[in-house]
Amino acid sequence: MFKKIILIFCVIFTIFISQAIAKEKEPQAHTDEMALYKKTEALTQIPWYYLAAINQYESNIEKNASENRLISINIPEKLWFGVSNPNHITNTNIIQISNGIGEDGNGDGLADPTNDEDVLYSMANYIKRYGVIEQDIKIALWNYYKRALTVQSIEQIADVYKTFGTINLEDSDFPIPLQHNYSYRSTWGDARGFGGRRIHEGTDIFANYGTPIKASRYGVVEIVGWNRFGGWRIGIRDIYNNYHYYAHLNGFKDGLSVGDVVKPGDVIGSVGASGYGPPGTSGKFPPHLHYGMYKDNGYSEWAFDPYPYLKRWEQKAKNK
Ligand SMILES: [Zn+2]
Repeated sequence: MFKKIILIFCVIFTIFISQAIAKEKEPQAHTDEMALYKKTEALTQIPWYYLAAINQYESNIEKNASENRLISINIPEKLWFGVSNPNHITNTNIIQISNGIGEDGNGDGLADPTNDEDVLYSMANYIKRYGVIEQDIKIALWNYYKRALTVQSIEQIADVYKTFGTINLEDSDFPIPLQHNYSYRSTWGDARGFGGRRIHEGTDIFANYGTPIKASRYGVVEIVGWNRFGGWRIGIRDIYNNYHYYAHLNGFKDGLSVGDVVKPGDVIGSVGASGYGPPGTSGKFPPHLHYGMYKDNGYSEWAFDPYPYLKRWEQKAKNK
């Protein structure tokens, strides 16, 4: 019996330790990643925060991320090797003659699309063909991705990284201060939100008029203003390709405007009951914050249930 307890204790302890180690790995990976961005910036003049943002965007849309890699940028084979290099020869001269963009970043004479340094260096040099200032980079990104939301998202992520000077931005916060009265439950897919329209896409957090509303993640304000259903609403796109939709507000934080960079805990507005009519309509339902989340996978955007996220952010905020 006693041996059994010891054994169980050992197993639990081992799990605990291995989890602790797994968690500690991350900061080191971030340090190595950052070192690679800085090195590539020194070689190419492309600011580190753009390189980091491209990588972050691609890692957000990646289905099967490789755990041993720091860089998730996936340059299509044809673009990497060139159109007249069907055998995918990694010799840089052959790639160049074939009009590929693959280059050698680590000095081994090969342009290897599975090597982090080679990939980042090649991406930076691709951009550099257009120039190194913001406007040039935007054009380069447009020509590379050919998708407005992708280019916009990368620029937003770059803005966040530049503002805080780091890629270590995993904090979160619950959108309502914990000391205020509030309540919410899982209502995903309920047949009606207020107004009896389509399926309810989000979570309603009921609170009193004027209760502060906070940003939950690092991101950039994408929309501020009125819309018929949402009333006074704010849209924030975070660094994980999620669009956070805050609706039915009473008002916005003074001066809040499109393009503002926010961090978790920043007050952005207050709870109200606006919406379902022309600008200024209010009081057609009890005051609450409608919280919606939408994910971009690189092709399209869709709504998903924010409830599990809210629960997690609330728990984390309670632990602080
Ligand atoms: Zn709602």
